[in-house]
Amino acid sequence: MLEIKNLHVELEEEGKPILKGVNLTVEAGKVHAIMGPNGSGKSTLSYVLSGRDGYAVTEGGATLDGEELLEMEPEERAAAGLFLAFQYPVEIPGVGNMTFLRTAVNAQRKARGEEELSAGEFLKAVREKAKTLKIDAEMLKRPVNVGFSGGEKKRNEILQMAMLEPRMCILDETDSGLDVDAMKLVAEGVNALRDPSRAFLVITHYQRLLDHIKPDVVHIMADGRIVKTGGPELALEVEKNGYADIVAELA
Ligand code: ADP
Ligand code: MG
Ligand code: MG
Repeated sequence: MLEIKNLHVELEEEGKPILKGVNLTVEAGKVHAIMGPNGSGKSTLSYVLSGRDGYAVTEGGATLDGEELLEMEPEERAAAGLFLAFQYPVEIPGVGNMTFLRTAVNAQRKARGEEELSAGEFLKAVREKAKTLKIDAEMLKRPVNVGFSGGEKKRNEILQMAMLEPRMCILDETDSGLDVDAMKLVAEGVNALRDPSRAFLVITHYQRLLDHIKPDVVHIMADGRIVKTGGPELALEVEKNGYADIVAELA
């Protein structure tokens, strides 16, 4: 589904190379995890895939279902089924959560050439999904993320993901660290959305998230490359021994 080939990326302004030849294939129905030391380029990879400004691809590329991903506008990527979780953590005062969700869903449907959902259809869908994620109606009415707790923001992001029904979901946990409850919510949301036609790329510095989201494949990234690939046991090895052993082994 997602195929990244020899991807080289540098920071546009500084010309500093960050990704130095990433190769990765994620198949439909699978959960791949990327782990790695701080500064290895994990977040950069997710930003480049989502189309954030400021990065220059100098070699290689990436395809989603065979289509060149890196040439698409961010909206086109979303329409093609890509979702970067935690991409809307911003607070939007004055814009109701429901209105925001409906606009996002309908923009995506339009880009896919599908009919927009009526107010009634949308309401029905969002209520169903909110219920399974234990989000109460009151939270849907509030302005987007304003005054939401960390856990509520995470749940809201998972709701966005559930409503947009992406095929390829990328979650960058960031290194700020989620508390255990927020982490469990993310994991439950992901597990509920696991499907043979959908794939996940879960980026995490710590092993603990992978206790809750069982990955099929684990990759270790260091210095802008994927340096090791294995099964779930690789994550446990990292937890036990840290990254130093793996990085030293390679050097
Ligand atoms: P990770 O997510 O694995 O911790 P990042 O992708 O955030 O790694 O960062 C990789 C490297 O790129 C780091 O050395 C970081 O300092 C650098 N970097 C990333 N984005 C920027 C930026 N906008 N400006 C300056 N340096 C950056
Ligand atoms: Mg970091
Ligand atoms: Mg990061």
